[in-house]
Amino acid sequence: MMLIAGNWKMFKGPRETREFCAVFEPPGGIEAVLCPPFVSLTAALESEHTVFAQNVHWADEGAFTGEISAPMLREVGVAGAIVGHSERRQYFGETDETVARRAAAALGHGLRVIACVGESLEERESGQMELVLRVQIEAIAEATGPHDRLVIAYEPVWAIGTGLTASAEQAREAHAFVKSILDVPVLYGGSLKPENAGELLDEDGVDGALIGGASLDVESFTAICQAAASLS
Ligand code: PEP
Repeated sequence: MMLIAGNWKMFKGPRETREFCAVFEPPGGIEAVLCPPFVSLTAALESEHTVFAQNVHWADEGAFTGEISAPMLREVGVAGAIVGHSERRQYFGETDETVARRAAAALGHGLRVIACVGESLEERESGQMELVLRVQIEAIAEATGPHDRLVIAYEPVWAIGTGLTASAEQAREAHAFVKSILDVPVLYGGSLKPENAGELLDEDGVDGALIGGASLDVESFTAICQAAASLS
């Protein structure tokens, strides 16, 4: 079943989260997941929707100001977490090692994990894409193995929030490469919207999507879910 996850980033407090959840009706045949900011998790959990956090720490508790642990997420009913989003890697010093630790701890506590990998434009243009992906994925694989609650999101950094998307062929190639290293479902992420969802989701090896901007609007997120459902 395709997984369609909406990463809301730093958008939507509890009020807007409740408004979205009240009207969002995903079609059957796919799994829709909402990833609101931490303060909006419990508001989202008042609904029937599946809810993931946008990050999770590797320790159960401790002196880690500003972090949230896997047992805390489990306690409120969160089903999973994103780890290693490129914005965390780019702006908050996340490394392959910290991403791997977060993923392993979350899985160890029964959470599901969407672990993000992806190359920058510079890396792609200089022929480094496979090397960069390999290093990122092997770090995760060494810590977790091909766990049945783990999925990878292939998110080319140059396509996130830029309006640029990978072509269907680029996505197919990258997804096949990811799976050759770690055989788990692979989501595509990067400026996915209703207009291009059908083409990208129809590619071999594309098992769903992680969506930023277009997941904030209930109509466009629903349209993407419907595009996925029509392929299932
Ligand atoms: C993301 O944040 O994971 C993402 C894919 O963002 P966008 O859809 O806005 O490019």
